[in-house]
Order: sequence, then structure tokens, then C-alpha cells
Amino acid sequence: MNIPRYYLGLIDKNDPNDPIGHLAIPAKEELVVAGSMGETTGDPYGDDKHDKGNGILHKYPYSALIVATEYCSMYCRHCFRKRLVGLPTDKTLENFQKAAEYVAKHSEITNVILSGGDPMMLPTSVLRGMLSALAGIKHLNYVRIASRTPVVFPMRFFDDELLDLFREFNEKKTLYLPTHFNHVNEITDLSTEAALRIRQTGVTVNNQAVFLRGVNDSAKALIDLMNGLVRIGVNPYYLYQCMPVSRVRHHFQIPLKEGVDIVSTAKRSLDGYAKRFKFIMGHDIGKIEICGRHGDNLVMSQIHARPEFPEEASRIIIRRLTSSGGWLEDLPEVEA
Ligand code: SF4
Repeated sequence: MNIPRYYLGLIDKNDPNDPIGHLAIPAKEELVVAGSMGETTGDPYGDDKHDKGNGILHKYPYSALIVATEYCSMYCRHCFRKRLVGLPTDKTLENFQKAAEYVAKHSEITNVILSGGDPMMLPTSVLRGMLSALAGIKHLNYVRIASRTPVVFPMRFFDDELLDLFREFNEKKTLYLPTHFNHVNEITDLSTEAALRIRQTGVTVNNQAVFLRGVNDSAKALIDLMNGLVRIGVNPYYLYQCMPVSRVRHHFQIPLKEGVDIVSTAKRSLDGYAKRFKFIMGHDIGKIEICGRHGDNLVMSQIHARPEFPEEASRIIIRRLTSSGGWLEDLPEVEA
């Protein structure tokens, strides 16, 4: 575990149900590997299958993810890369040049995600080296740096050298910073200031929240979160269904039958910008948007597919909702 002092200060220590506490403090439920919601895995997104070595994960033809470090500012209790984060970082750093060479050789890659772990744990000079290796690759349209640091340790963005790096790189190639706010209590004066400073460099900040029991499992919690994000200039982008991760699923995942109603109810009260987010299942077979329910059926649309099954991209999937099903495989097929 690792909790920055700033983030620790957001927790109401007198409230055992404090949502920020659930995100940061280990719970005894993590001793349950699988449990009541169903089977679990250490690798729900199939990262290992798409690992090309040198810290590079290449799942969809057009996107490559580079594991820049395996350390984080905070170890989130619901992390889907729980099996990796916190391990020694030397391997990924040593191999960055080779990862950049892989990207340069694959002209079908239009964008790179620097991820981990959290790349903002790296010294600015190391980030500068990584970004300059990517800046010259002509077929890259843009680069993303995925980071929860604006939320858990916003002071990292009060560093002028880092902001200068963002500004300089963004003038050569478009830079995005996907971040990870899950609850309105994470939107503080300091995280607002961090988001503003990042935006002032010309970098766009998008948010990828995770839908979590005990954290944001009500329409009001989602409404407050999405409205808070648009207020500080952070774009709601994804709301992820909690994955079937070992030691996570049992206590954090919300059944889809309950979840789809919560999300639909929230969207009714949100303006157009605040409801731009997609409710997403980050499945091994590709990303699946959860569109809504039609009676007792769940209507989904696959938006990314594995290269070996291109016909699956854009397909509509309809499954029967059950009281406890929290993942695609839990929901029975619907007979035509
Ligand atoms: S910051 Fe991201 S990678 Fe790190 S523990 Fe949290 S969710 Fe996992």
C-alpha cells in the first residue's frame, strides 16, 4: 500500500464507509480471491497475450501501450493491474528505446499510451527522454500519458519543468492526459489547480472512472462526479465496469442489472458534456460499450476488437440480465 499524505487527508477517519477510504485503504475482503460475484483472474484485460516484450502491449492494431514504470503515486485497491504494480522498475526503463523502435517499425500504430503503473512517478528528465523518442515517429497522431497523479498527488503538476515539457511536446505532437477521478470528494482546490495547470499547457485531460461498490454506486454519486469534472475542465470519457480481478471483484463489482439502471438514471440529470462518458466493459475480447437495457436484456456495442476477429468491431451484443451477473460471460445468450 502507498497513500500520499495529501490523499490520506481526504479520508474521513470517523466514517468506515468513506468512499476515499475504500479506494486507498486495504480491506479484509481482499483476502477473498474470487467470491460471490464469480470467477476472477489476475489478468482480466489479457495483457500477457499482447505483450511484445520491452514493456510494450499491442492489443489493437492502431494503439500501443508502453509500461513506462510499475510504480504508482498510490496503489488503488481496485487496480486491474494489481499483479504488476509496485514491482521493480528497472526492466521497463532499460527497454524504453526498444519499445520506441517497435512503435517506429509498426506504421499501423497511430497512438501510444505511456502507462504502467503511473508514468508521473518518473523524474521529468526520464519523461523527457521518452517523449523525445516518440516525437520523431511520423505515423503517430498523438500520445497519451495515463496518470492518476492529478487525483492522488496533484502537487506533481506544480513543477514548471514538467509543464514546460508538456507544452513543448504538445507543440510537436498532440498530448492527452487520461486521468482517473472516481468520486467528487477527489475534486479539491489542489486537484482543480493541477487540472488547470495541465490544461494551460494545451494538453487535454480526459477522465476514466471505475464504477465501484461503496464508492460511486448511486446516481447521485455519478451526477456529482461528472458535473464536478466538467466544472474543472476534465472531460468525462469512460466509466469502466469493475473487471473480474482477483481480490477486487467480490467487494467492488456492481451487478450489471443494478449498474445499468444507476447509470441511466444519472444520465437523465446530466447535460450533454457531463454525459459524454461511455459505460464500458474493458473485456479481453475488446472494449464493449454498455448502451442500456431493453426490458430484461442488456444492449451492448463492441467498439474495439482483436485483430484476428475484425468482424466483431461495431457488433451489437444482447444478453439476458440476471440479478448477480457482473460480466459478459455471466449473462445468458438471448434466443432469436
Ligand atoms: S494508479 Fe492506476 S495502475 Fe496504479 S494502482 Fe491505481 S489504478 Fe493501478
